[in-house]
Amino acid sequence: MTASQNEFSLIERFFSNIGKSHFPVELSQGDDAAVVNVPVGKQLVMSVDTLISGVHFPELTSAADIAYKSLAVNLSDLAAMGAKPAWFLLSITLPKFDEVWLSEFSASLKKISRQYQIELIGGDTCRGPLSITIQVSGLVDHNNYVNRKGAQLGDLVLVTGELGNAALGLAHLQQRVALPTSLIKNCVEALNRPKPRLELTGFLTSYASAAIDLSDGLVGDLRHILNQSQKGATIRLDSLPVNDFIRSQQAYDYALTGGDDFELCFTMPSQHKYIIEDWNHKNPQCKLTHIGEITESDYELVGNHTTENLNNWQGYQHFE
Ligand code: ADP
Ligand code: MG
Repeated sequence: MTASQNEFSLIERFFSNIGKSHFPVELSQGDDAAVVNVPVGKQLVMSVDTLISGVHFPELTSAADIAYKSLAVNLSDLAAMGAKPAWFLLSITLPKFDEVWLSEFSASLKKISRQYQIELIGGDTCRGPLSITIQVSGLVDHNNYVNRKGAQLGDLVLVTGELGNAALGLAHLQQRVALPTSLIKNCVEALNRPKPRLELTGFLTSYASAAIDLSDGLVGDLRHILNQSQKGATIRLDSLPVNDFIRSQQAYDYALTGGDDFELCFTMPSQHKYIIEDWNHKNPQCKLTHIGEITESDYELVGNHTTENLNNWQGYQHFE
């Protein structure tokens, strides 16, 4: 888009000096495109995600939360690949020029991009229904990335953090669940401020055989690993890391098919099992839980008394 004078000053005011990369930028905003230097021996890892108001976040979500989440979900994709964040592009469509909204959005974007050391190097600004698209670039050492197709028979299946909190937070905001007061803050925060698990990058590139980030629910997302690896899995209900509400109400659907957790699910050879405890001891904020194993072909959920076939379960799908 050709920006008017107004749009140039908007970009200058709200979308410049956001984040700082570890890696060199040759040419940032202000030209027709950005130019970066990929260090010798590294590979570029790229991903893009769009967040639409009313679809990916409730319409009443604050500008600060929208900015945070738009970048966080993209950083989560880099985390699942075992990549280190470097640069990002931001394409934003705004219904109107709202100075207060833009200031909050910009301040929050600045904060999270500094925290994860990723730098805004360009983008696009349009008028229309609120929507944010972010394209992230990260770097890995040559061929040292994690993908979805490496799971092997007997590998352990692990997840980070707690599952189902974001879906519970959304159900609470939409008054579909009576959540105990003590859990509200945590669940709404899980929905609006998912933590990209970038601290796990070194662990994944050293030990993981496959990984994915959980955007659409564990059952559907783990199925992507299984399909690409041509394997099955057994998941134990008792082992799922869930809060007391989910466990006491047996409301496991939030954890199994609820979306938006942005935790990581990965597989790893069982010989590395001893490392889990050590990791959890040193990283209590990013706890790993062993929830099952990779099998030959069946995809099953083992409960106390029953075993369910997961082949036909669905995660959240946009085009149903
Ligand atoms: P063009 O007409 O070449 O597409 P634009 O007028 O859209 O250029 O943008 C001018 C400059 O401002 C470009 O360098 C672009 O990368 C940058 N830019 C535009 N919008 C944004 C944004 N939302 N965030 C960051 N940079 C932006
Ligand atoms: Mg443009």
